[in-house]
Amino acid sequence: MSALFPTYKRKQIQLKKGNGSYVYDQDNKKYLDFTSGIAVTSLGHCHPEVVTALQKQSDCIWHTSNLFEIQQQEQLALTLVNHTYLDLAFFCNSGAEANEAAIKLAKKFTKKNKIITFNDSFHGRTFGSMSATGQQKIKEGYGPLVSTFIHLPWNDIEQLKNQADNDTAAIMMEVIQGEGGIKIADLDFYKEVQEICKKNDILLVIDEVQTGIGRTGKRYAYEHFGLDPDIVTLAKGLGNGFPIGAMLGKRKLAEAFGPGSHGTTFGGNPLACAVSQSVLNIIFDDEFLNEVDRKGKNFKEHLEKHLIKFSSVKEIRGEGLLIGIECENAGELIINIEKQGLLTVPAGEHVIRLLPPLNVTDEELSIALNTIQRAFNNKYETVT
Ligand code: PLP
Repeated sequence: MSALFPTYKRKQIQLKKGNGSYVYDQDNKKYLDFTSGIAVTSLGHCHPEVVTALQKQSDCIWHTSNLFEIQQQEQLALTLVNHTYLDLAFFCNSGAEANEAAIKLAKKFTKKNKIITFNDSFHGRTFGSMSATGQQKIKEGYGPLVSTFIHLPWNDIEQLKNQADNDTAAIMMEVIQGEGGIKIADLDFYKEVQEICKKNDILLVIDEVQTGIGRTGKRYAYEHFGLDPDIVTLAKGLGNGFPIGAMLGKRKLAEAFGPGSHGTTFGGNPLACAVSQSVLNIIFDDEFLNEVDRKGKNFKEHLEKHLIKFSSVKEIRGEGLLIGIECENAGELIINIEKQGLLTVPAGEHVIRLLPPLNVTDEELSIALNTIQRAFNNKYETVT
């Protein structure tokens, strides 16, 4: 009998060891890991440079509290805001915490209450971030929720125009909805969001917890859509498995986040920051990012070419190495694919989500492609 709260329906697989793109279970069965711990281990498992950074810092000092200057935090903040129009960082431990910080900052800075978010979005499990989330199932039984949020249909410009006004503190969105099913809006929608924000003095808050840190082939996914966010939130891939989150923001916002206004015990401790710095030293490199883009495009094209013949496949979408296959029976296919040694993860109701490490090789991508094709071939007749 487990002594854990049953908050997760766990697989009967225990991953005991990981190396690069591969993981090994309790029976030493080898899997190609296209979950990356849900967009976390972006450099694969036990990356030597990340391991070295962890070991080196762990011999020096782990934790000091934010009452002291932390040089590793200063350095990491600069690396994160470099190449952006953002200036400042606040470090925490998770995506939900980063979003909590963003929600608090947006309200305090603007002195307004209303924040617009979107249906099918996911922003976390704390009270604020859960209330922001646009999925009813996440919120079941927890009411009354934080009254700040109104949820609008994703990709609906008219509704947004009707609702965004001078009383709105922020529009908060994932530019590609991850948990919701890898949903990308039309280019015009992003353009309109930006214009509405500028026109009404509304802060643009982008949740890059899943899409950030190179996942889509750019440092941050908002760059694909020409956006100029006031606040960006991060976690997941930022620490390659070491828990760390961050909120980035424009300098003007600093006046609302003075001493005592927000805080954390663990956030941004030297150990977390040293690990994260080693991750960014590799990912925040133009050549590395171009490779993510190339591999992502190539992989998506091949998936389209080989899967579109199955009537069960509705769409293959995504950016960089965040790819979703919308199809019937996604759950069954995921199990079939897993039996053949490839781990993937569902998103939304009908999407097989593929999240390979960003340094995945072309050979590993082609192994994955063959495995996925086999699973579809086993299950479906092709359309002629
Ligand atoms: N925001 C997005 C877009 C996410 O995908 C997630 C997690 O899946 C979160 C926030 C919450 O992050 P965490 O689980 O680290 O609190």
